Amino acid sequence: MKKAGDLLAYFFDQKTLTSIHTWSKLFSAWPSIVTKHKIAAAESHTRVVEFDRRVLLIEAEHPGWIQILQIKQAELLQEFQSRFPDLDIVGIAFRLSRTPFTPSIQIPEPRPPEPPPTPVVEEDTANLSAKERFKQSMKRLEQSIIARERARARGDFNKEPQRNIKPRSEDAVALSSAWTEIKHCLLCPRRCGVNRAAGERGYCGESAVLRLAAASIHRGEEPPVSGAGGSGAIFVSGCNLGCVFCQNRQISHEAMGREVSITEFVAICLKLQALGAENINVVTGTHAIPAVVAGLKQARAEGLVIPTLWNSSAYESLEALSLLEDVIDVYLPDLKTLDPNLAACFFNAPDYPEYATKAILRMLDTRSLRTSANSTLMSGVIIRHLVLPGYLEATRETLRWFAEHGQGRALISVMTQYTPPRGMGVRVKDAPKRFMSERDYETVLGWLEEFGIEDGFYQELTPDSDWLPDFTRQNPFSSTLSTAVWHF
Ligand code: SF4
Repeated sequence: MKKAGDLLAYFFDQKTLTSIHTWSKLFSAWPSIVTKHKIAAAESHTRVVEFDRRVLLIEAEHPGWIQILQIKQAELLQEFQSRFPDLDIVGIAFRLSRTPFTPSIQIPEPRPPEPPPTPVVEEDTANLSAKERFKQSMKRLEQSIIARERARARGDFNKEPQRNIKPRSEDAVALSSAWTEIKHCLLCPRRCGVNRAAGERGYCGESAVLRLAAASIHRGEEPPVSGAGGSGAIFVSGCNLGCVFCQNRQISHEAMGREVSITEFVAICLKLQALGAENINVVTGTHAIPAVVAGLKQARAEGLVIPTLWNSSAYESLEALSLLEDVIDVYLPDLKTLDPNLAACFFNAPDYPEYATKAILRMLDTRSLRTSANSTLMSGVIIRHLVLPGYLEATRETLRWFAEHGQGRALISVMTQYTPPRGMGVRVKDAPKRFMSERDYETVLGWLEEFGIEDGFYQELTPDSDWLPDFTRQNPFSSTLSTAVWHF
């Protein structure tokens, strides 16, 4: 008769055995770690369930436990890092348990970690003439939009817009009222399954009640979005994705904002319209789709006539998107990356590329480009991509995807405003720590040329953080960029 250890040694080599022992210790270390950090009571209500792409996932049986663990998040991460230096742990994520919780600590089968994302070796492909050529192509696009609009104005401009809405999928039609009331939240790909109507909170940290942080007339968006009057931006509190480098982290990560009723949301929309906004631009509202849809429908009934924009991360299910089809005219989705490793590292969402590309394809199917006489967007899709310094290859793949799937159907907006996160805590350990360089910039412009991408926009390079919003202020942005209309 052999001992268990001998049997393992029979099947595995020494390196694999060492790895298994480390993983086993990782999952069983939780009770001693919470005890050491004076939250011993958490032992029977929380558990380590997964370690994937260097992020440790901890389940809790109640949102209150998540809040307690979040307070200690930095300490807990440091503890894990010091105990398991070989695993190169970069973050801790939390979620509510979907199954009945037992006090015993579960030790799941270890899964080998994915290799960490590899920063790109930056090539010197700077080419000024490529930049000039792209600028010219942008000019051509602008002229073609104006020409198309003039043609439309000569003919049937005053007719109702023809929406190319495809039939909803069977999944979407099958949405139950309980689902839309968020009694078992499957609204986004996180699929937390919590009862938000009863105040429970999932990954996004929000109950079913809509919370807003600010509303303003914003003049810093793409030209067809801002137009002459500015875009009526409404900033929703909370976020279902949670990028580590979020520029709006006060509202997306730190819960800034307050609850509003549907009546108040409608009043904000109508005030933005009365002040000359070209559109209503709902920013990061994926986790609040049912409330926003109800609000926009009510606003339409009470006189809202300007177009509505959905400005999101695109980490959205097709079912949730189907709820928007009746109320949204223009989509402004991000396409942050197609690299699951980057998505795991920066948003704790390795499935982001899969969901975001599906969501964007659905948006492309449901909205074709159409502008008004003054060249503001009335319908269509603008795909936004923020270039991450040091990870340029991810941008190249994203541009290639756009050339294949979006060219001729949507506009692209290449954003070069990446700003290293303020107060670099442990969660942002791997986030780029510099602005985009001139060389990065020229490289990206060269790829636009290489892929023949002509329809869209790119920002000028501005290597500073002066434009960053501060949501503690009545007007979170600079007065040249925006006019405050509502603040929490
Ligand atoms: S919206 Fe997404 S993150 Fe928020 S509770 Fe629902 S499934 Fe979870």
